[in-house]
Amino acid sequence: MCNRYKAPSKAEEEISVQTIKKLPKMYFTNITGGEPFIRTDLKDIVRELRKISDRIVISTNGFFTDRIVDLCKDFPDIGIRISIEGLEETNNEIRGIEDGFNRGYTTLKKLVDMGMKDVGFGMTVQDKNAPDLVSLYQLSDKMNMEFATASLHNSFYFVETKNRIHDRPMVAQHFENLVNELLNSNSPKKWFRAYFNHGLINYIYAQKRLLPCDMSFDTFFIDPYGDVMPCNGTKDKEVMGNLNDQTWEELWNSPEAEAVRKKVRCCDRNCWMIGSVSPAMKKYIWKPGFWVLKHKAFYFWKKKKYSMYENKIVRDFHDGKVTKEELDARTTCDMITPVANGLSEQSMERLREQSGEALVDADISAQLNSLFPKEGE
Ligand code: SF4
Repeated sequence: MCNRYKAPSKAEEEISVQTIKKLPKMYFTNITGGEPFIRTDLKDIVRELRKISDRIVISTNGFFTDRIVDLCKDFPDIGIRISIEGLEETNNEIRGIEDGFNRGYTTLKKLVDMGMKDVGFGMTVQDKNAPDLVSLYQLSDKMNMEFATASLHNSFYFVETKNRIHDRPMVAQHFENLVNELLNSNSPKKWFRAYFNHGLINYIYAQKRLLPCDMSFDTFFIDPYGDVMPCNGTKDKEVMGNLNDQTWEELWNSPEAEAVRKKVRCCDRNCWMIGSVSPAMKKYIWKPGFWVLKHKAFYFWKKKKYSMYENKIVRDFHDGKVTKEELDARTTCDMITPVANGLSEQSMERLREQSGEALVDADISAQLNSLFPKEGE
C-alpha cells in the first residue's frame, strides 16, 4: 500500500538538524518515513525536537531493534508505533519482510520490558488483513500497548494512486467488531479511538469527513527536502515554503502558504488519518464527545451495541441504493494518472540509473555491514 521504497530521497539532500532547529514550538510531532531508523543521526534529530515538541511519536517497521532500544534508553518518554499488518502470516506477506512479525513483536516486547509507556502497534487495514484486526487489538491490549489503526490512502507521499478497499461490508464488519471492543473497555481514550474507527468505516465508504480538516492552519507536514505542506494526503506536493531557505515566520505567513490554505478549504480528498483527525477531534471535541456519550449510554441502558448500519451509506449500499462502482468513483483511487512521488530533480536523476528497490537494498546492506562487519572487513 506504500511504494515509498521505490522512490527514495537522496540521503545528502535530506533535512538536517540545522533545519529542524528552525521549526516552531509544537504540541505533537510524528516522525515517519520511509523508515526513520535508517537515519543514523535520528538521536540528534530527536534531541532537538524534544526541546520544541511536547510529545514525539516515531512510526517504524521495527526492523532495527538495537537502534530503537538504544534511542529509547536515552528518550524513554517518546512514543514508538511499530507497523504490523496483522498476525504473523498476514503481516509477513503484506510487508514482504521475512520474520517481520517476530522482529516487530520482539522489539515491542523489549520496549515494554524496559518500562516504556507509549508503545504499540500501527495497522493499516485493507481487505487482506481486516480479519486479523480484532485479534491484533486483543494481543496489544494483553501486552498493555497502544493500538493505532489506519486504512488505505493514495498520495504523493505513499507514491500510490491505486489503493482502495474492495469488499467494503467485510472490512466494515471487522471495524464494527473493533469499535465494540473499544467501547466496552474502561478507558475513555479507547472510547475516542472507537469514534476514530467509526470514522474509518465512513471513510472506506468514500463519504465526507466526519470532522473538518484544518491542516495547514494549525498542523503541517515537512518532507525530507524541507518543503512544508499541509499534510501528506494530497495527490501532488502542495508546498507552502521551504524551511532550508526561509525562517519559520516568513514561511508560515507567506502568500504561498495562504494560497495553500485556500486549497485546503476546498479539499475533497476526505482523508481519515490520525495526523489530521486527532487535532480535529480535540478542536471539535463536542462531536466525538457526543458520539461517545450516546454509545456508552445505549450500551449501559439498553445493552445495544454499535452497528456499522448506523451509517446511512452502509445501509444504502446494503439495500442496493448505491453501487460499488459509484462508491469506487468517489474514492481517491486513480488508475490512469501517473503517480507523483514528490522527489527532487537530483533524486529523480539517480532513479534513472538504478531502481529505488536496488538503492534501498544497497543502503540497508551497507548499514548492516557497518553494524556487523564480516570477518576480514
Ligand atoms: S482532506 Fe485534509 S489531510 Fe486530506 S489531503 Fe485534504 S487537506 Fe490534506
